[in-house]
Amino acid sequence: MSFSATRRHFFAWAQGALALGASGARPGRDPESTVDYYDKLGVTKIINAAGTYTVLTASIMPPSVQAAVAQAAQHPVRLLELQKAAGEYLAKRLQCEAALITAGAASGLTLATAACVTRGRADAIEKIPTDMTGLKNEVIVQKAHHNDYDHALLNCGVHFVEVETLAEYEKAFTGQIAMAHFFNAAGAGSISREDWVRVAHSHEVPCLNDAAADVPPISNLWNYTKMGFDLVVFSGGKGMRGPQNAGLLLGRKELIDAAVANAMPISATIGRGMKVAKEEIVGMVAAVDWFLSQTDEGMEAEFTARANRIAEHLKSIPGLQSRIVIPPVANRIPHLVLTYDQNRVKIAPKAVADALRHGSPCIELNPSTGRKHDHGVTGDEDAIVVGVWMLQPGEDIIVAKRLHEVLSKAT
Ligand SMILES: *Cc1c(COP(=O)(O)O)cnc(C)c1O
Repeated sequence: MSFSATRRHFFAWAQGALALGASGARPGRDPESTVDYYDKLGVTKIINAAGTYTVLTASIMPPSVQAAVAQAAQHPVRLLELQKAAGEYLAKRLQCEAALITAGAASGLTLATAACVTRGRADAIEKIPTDMTGLKNEVIVQKAHHNDYDHALLNCGVHFVEVETLAEYEKAFTGQIAMAHFFNAAGAGSISREDWVRVAHSHEVPCLNDAAADVPPISNLWNYTKMGFDLVVFSGGKGMRGPQNAGLLLGRKELIDAAVANAMPISATIGRGMKVAKEEIVGMVAAVDWFLSQTDEGMEAEFTARANRIAEHLKSIPGLQSRIVIPPVANRIPHLVLTYDQNRVKIAPKAVADALRHGSPCIELNPSTGRKHDHGVTGDEDAIVVGVWMLQPGEDIIVAKRLHEVLSKAT
């Protein structure tokens, strides 16, 4: 090749690289990606005035995270190298010994359990959950801490041992206990986090904390590991607004290494089906960077401002009362709670939620709306609950207008 041909080749390559870089930095600019597959598939786009609910796809990644995902999609890498580098980077940023990006918090619970069951027993990794020979196969838990995610632990072939009081807990450590499990947002159960960790450690049993939905505050990302929990799980797609199928498993290096040994991309593991692709690994790291650039005060001020704008728009509705509720542990951000005079506005909160769901645009209100048995926000059957934190810019006013329309029509 002559020099000029080489140069032409180089410039063509460089232009191509620049074009790729530009489309990577601004997803959606690439003509190939202008097809809206939701429209093509006939899937309804919603306004999420509910919150980070899994069935509503939880959250929207901020632009910097979307760009990082699009960029990562353009290059193959070695998956183990990426997994290791991402873990080391996150451990530094999140002030823990080690970290693993999992396929969501539920996957983190499975991998944490597998780590505790198989640690020091590499031969057991491919045998669990059907052959538990010689393995510790019990997980201790407070009776009030059971939840729908128990299955993620049970997948590893373990059984639960239930306790209610500290005295029972202290006596429950047989030689078969592999792990002590704590549900961070349980809000019930008489044994504190500190006692839970102290007693387990006196028996050399590691402790797991499921804090999936428990940021903000941002500092929770290190509060529980610093408190002594050996492993802590967070969902990546909830408050951190990472990819929905990503999560964080944080904790002690020895146990994170044991979790990695049970995880994808290694094929003969319990975690093989919980694949985290390069796009999600990079997206999760970018989401942590984004989340750590926020402040608790800034987020709270923004969500409060949205709530106030909606309430202000509705003040002519007969008997309208608005308040802001911040749940204590999970989803600890301002929610707008609205009540009104149902003798004059003849529509129940649940019917308002239905009207918004079936209207245009389609709006999903918080599932606590009109429910006595709530989803952690309020137990008021007469209340409309607006989860403002997952609204996109400008959507607060759209929600306010639709609420005004539906409520004023019923007067
Ligand atoms: C949402 C949630 C999970 C699961 O999180 P994913 O990231 O969706 O897997 C687990 N535990 C609790 C308490 C949760 O709220």
